[in-house]
Amino acid sequence: MEFDLYKLVRDNIKNLTPYSSARHEFTGKASVFLDANENAFGSPLAENFNRYPDPLQWQLKFQLARIKGVPAENIFVGNGSDEVIDLAYRVFCNPGKDNVIICPPTYGMYQVSANINDVAIKKVNLTTGFQLDVEGILNAVDENTKLLFICSPNNPTGNNMNREAVELLLNNFPGLVIIDEAYINYSSQKTFIQELTEYPNLIVMQTLSKAWGLAALRLGLCYASMDIIDLFNKVKPPYNVNDASQQLGLEALQDTKEVNEWIRLVVEQKHLLAATLQQLSFVGKIYPSDANFILVKVTNANMLYDYLAAHEVIVRNRSKEVHCENCLRITIGTPEENATVINLLKLYKP
Ligand SMILES: *Cc1c(COP(=O)(O)O)cnc(C)c1O
Repeated sequence: MEFDLYKLVRDNIKNLTPYSSARHEFTGKASVFLDANENAFGSPLAENFNRYPDPLQWQLKFQLARIKGVPAENIFVGNGSDEVIDLAYRVFCNPGKDNVIICPPTYGMYQVSANINDVAIKKVNLTTGFQLDVEGILNAVDENTKLLFICSPNNPTGNNMNREAVELLLNNFPGLVIIDEAYINYSSQKTFIQELTEYPNLIVMQTLSKAWGLAALRLGLCYASMDIIDLFNKVKPPYNVNDASQQLGLEALQDTKEVNEWIRLVVEQKHLLAATLQQLSFVGKIYPSDANFILVKVTNANMLYDYLAAHEVIVRNRSKEVHCENCLRITIGTPEENATVINLLKLYKP
């Protein structure tokens, strides 16, 4: 099956002349910059905040390339993963005409972003074992199906998608396959970012918001073919990632030791929490998790949620999601925070 990316791109995007910023038009060596109407005297803050940031965040991308083993040209940085999701809709999906496939229960932004962009959603639920229904997905495809979202490890269930199923879809889905690896740092499964040359229809998303501990900076990462990255760059706001985030992100990426220690601690604490939950009478099922949270089925999720909230502990009630009746999603906290939850759970009388 020959893959033609440009058959999937909206005509208005294909024909778009992108905005050309001052920082974009001149990139050579110069000493006097009078091209962007900035305040030449300076900034009340750090020295260079009076200047527009690098529109393409090259320093950050070079460092990511070193860490991830993917060429910088294959990386896109968004204002959080949520910007990448929105861009995928805006580049590939004609509002009111095209559709995408999502696999509930999964991350809510795929649907919200589709609704904002007036793109139809086809839901092909995960199996009761929270795995991909490959046949159902391929059967749901029509001539206007552009994207397939796969979240692995999946939020809110915590499990990895079976790799053979993902590969089958990469080989047979006629549109773009977006694999959301927000929790990949906690996972025993290998990332798909090394497979970009094999699959021209692959987009992988990661984020610095979870394991890297930088949720406030809004740094979402995307890996794809250069052609796809070019399309995203064409459509994104010129300065989508601010300079404070670029600088601080770059600084944080210098040291992976602390991050790896946090990951080890989270996994350790997750096992401890799971073992404790197992002993409680009102806990029905603890779903195996490759992420930094646990999905747990209890006898009455609303009541347990209210009990914990009354004691100032907030978890996520996922009861209304398909296959998640009476399920709470509990993020792994510090050992002290987890001990607080464990003590409260032991005292709970349903
Ligand atoms: C948390 C999360 C993200 C991260 O989004 P950001 O906008 O990068 O903070 C992406 N996908 C999933 C599935 C998540 O759970």
